[in-house]
Amino acid sequence: MSSKKINAIQAEQVVLISAGASGIGRVIAETFLAHDCHVHICDINADAIADFLEDNPAASATRADVSTVAEVEEVFDDLAGRYGRLDVLVNNAGIAGPTALVEDIEPAEWDKTIAVDLNGHFYCSRLAIPLLKASRGCIISIASNVAFTGCPGRAPYTASKWAIVGLTKTLAMELGPDGVRVNAICPGSVEGDRLNSVIERDAKERGQSIEAIRDVYLRQNSLRSFISAEDVANLVLFLASDLGSKISGQAIGLDGHTETLANWLD
Ligand code: NAD
Repeated sequence: MSSKKINAIQAEQVVLISAGASGIGRVIAETFLAHDCHVHICDINADAIADFLEDNPAASATRADVSTVAEVEEVFDDLAGRYGRLDVLVNNAGIAGPTALVEDIEPAEWDKTIAVDLNGHFYCSRLAIPLLKASRGCIISIASNVAFTGCPGRAPYTASKWAIVGLTKTLAMELGPDGVRVNAICPGSVEGDRLNSVIERDAKERGQSIEAIRDVYLRQNSLRSFISAEDVANLVLFLASDLGSKISGQAIGLDGHTETLANWLD
């Protein structure tokens, strides 16, 4: 039996990351940059983009709201002008949406969450497809562990993440014959500003300590741990590399094994 060095991500690949200026997307972008890839991000927040580019001058960016077709078209025009190809699309954009029971959700809040979390993935994917067919590249979408179960109080977010899994499996079937792989990553709670603000809000609403609410979230998974943005970036890198060359159509849990998402109602 012979052993050989494993090829990780190939340098010089062109990677587009939506909502890449901060949060998980920024860590994914910086991980690809550290592996000598060409990274283009889009993000709705111009200040966050400026901050990202200051720290990562080798990257490029377009300010865009992924829920607006014309702005996503500008992203792809910019990408085509700069690089003329695309190897990896990371559909990362997603807002938390309202925290409320379905009967209390305003239709406008529902529509906005679906527009960013689902439509944004579709708008980016449809324009990426011809480029990815040419490069035999891949799409990696960031869904959530809510796509394995329901999540009371988070209906539009949960519905959009389940829909991303459906879109992932369908795209994998449509694009597989052209050598394009499509996968979704389903992270549990990721350490960072977004999780901290959710925990602070829940603690305030329920009159409990931040530590008590943190514990509620930790008890949702078997490993009793949160996920880091680096964990997500590492799995994205794996899926984009030769190591993931036979993986497609999967919704991969990165969640310490979610046991429940209902215990915050206790
Ligand atoms: P975040 O709230 O930190 O936002 C990251 C970036 O998204 C920001 O720079 C923001 O400007 C940008 N953004 C927001 N709306 C946008 C829009 N309409 N168009 C373009 N950019 C937009 O998000 P995050 O916590 O880094 O989450 C990234 C992804 O991971 C999302 O899809 C989210 O649902 C998913 N996820 C997050 C967690 C978590 O605990 N944070 C857990 C599971 C899944």
